[in-house]
Amino acid sequence: MTWSTTEAEAPTGAGPLTDALSQLDNALAHLGINGGIKKMLTTPRRELMVSVPLRRDDGSIAVYSGYRVQHNFSRGPAKGGLRYAPSVDLDEVRALAMWMTWKCALVDVPYGGAKGGIAIDPREHSQAELERVTRRYTSEILPIIGPTKDIPAPDIGTDERTMAWIMDTYSAAMGHTVPGVVTGKPVSLGGSLGRAAATSRGVAHIALMALASRGMDPSRTTATVQGFGKVGRDAARFLAAAGVKVLAVSDIDGAVYDERGLDIGRLAEHADRTGSVSGFEGTESIDPASILLLDVDMVVPAAVEGVLTADNAAKVQASIVVEGANGPTTKDADAILTDRDVLVVPDILANAGGVVVSYFEWVQANQAYQWSERDVNDRLEERMTKAWHDVVDYSGAHSLTYREAATALAVQRVTDAHRLRGLYP
Ligand code: NAD
Repeated sequence: MTWSTTEAEAPTGAGPLTDALSQLDNALAHLGINGGIKKMLTTPRRELMVSVPLRRDDGSIAVYSGYRVQHNFSRGPAKGGLRYAPSVDLDEVRALAMWMTWKCALVDVPYGGAKGGIAIDPREHSQAELERVTRRYTSEILPIIGPTKDIPAPDIGTDERTMAWIMDTYSAAMGHTVPGVVTGKPVSLGGSLGRAAATSRGVAHIALMALASRGMDPSRTTATVQGFGKVGRDAARFLAAAGVKVLAVSDIDGAVYDERGLDIGRLAEHADRTGSVSGFEGTESIDPASILLLDVDMVVPAAVEGVLTADNAAKVQASIVVEGANGPTTKDADAILTDRDVLVVPDILANAGGVVVSYFEWVQANQAYQWSERDVNDRLEERMTKAWHDVVDYSGAHSLTYREAATALAVQRVTDAHRLRGLYP
């Protein structure tokens, strides 16, 4: 187990942390913030690296690298997802933790930012193995998580089952049930109604506001969605329900296209049955790399970071990009898209619906009182609408892109919290 509280080394080369730090630098320059506060915002408060040994079903032992990074606590306990993917590394987790800090501040929930991950491919493991690896990882990071410290939630490769195992492991160590230690739990264990689809509901809500801002009628617009997981699938469903023709979706295995617009409900059944969108009958199979470059009005990257790059940004034909994923647009791609007047709705705004309803779940868990699904959805919509207008107004007032405006607003709020609290001792 390695504890580190030192300044993060500057990343070398391209990657999510380079993008995140460059966005922060721009915001700090715009706000005129320098010196100690700049250093504090650039540096994670706490990083924990752990080895996670796993007894495999065949009796052999594998060891995986696990991480939990807590970027900031100024506005409240740290909050952020847990990712299981082979590509997880410390810099990625650092970037994702920093984005969580800005996201929570932007939608004004009382949290700082965190993120965790294990460099493991969940598709290569049985449920029993995933349960053991999750419980062992939880016990390794146990000293730094808790309902008033740091609250994990699902991300790529994890789900409500994973959250139930974390809650159980944590509760066993505490000697009593602690539902507030994670969000995104099954509803029967104190999860919130509406949490499972909250990120996607928020993405679709923001996407529809983005269309309206450009005078586009949803029933005359087309879109593609990259990723058909917890975020992409329901984002596609909500967009289709609003009248948008979703022409193509992709996942890690392939991509399908239908010029009449995909039937998302039937596609979801197909994906549940087969494990992939590939081979959905009545559709054309297309190159997954083309999904963000098709001739549509809007693209929704909802899979992984770094998919819009200097190499493909000039080929994007859509006029709106709504970032369902965290960090899908690299710094260079951002500049190219902005030059081409493509409206990029940044991740920390577009996909913030998940953390908003995670906050509602935490509030409900702490009060032991369940809200109705309608209550949850109405309050989610209210917060997303307010955040959208905050960003649009700030962007207009300061001639900034939506990403620059969203980051600056969030960084200002976190800086205010730092200044008000002062520095101990
Ligand atoms: P998920 O694991 O449920 O789904 C991921 C989807 O992306 C799957 O369809 C997978 O096949 C596909 N995918 C994975 N790697 C890919 C690749 N290299 N190319 C193309 N497709 C690929 O994950 P999720 O929870 O839907 O998360 C997706 C994104 O949304 C991530 O960036 C995550 O950080 C972000 N996000 C998730 C939430 C949430 O509540 N789950 C909230 C905010 C942001």
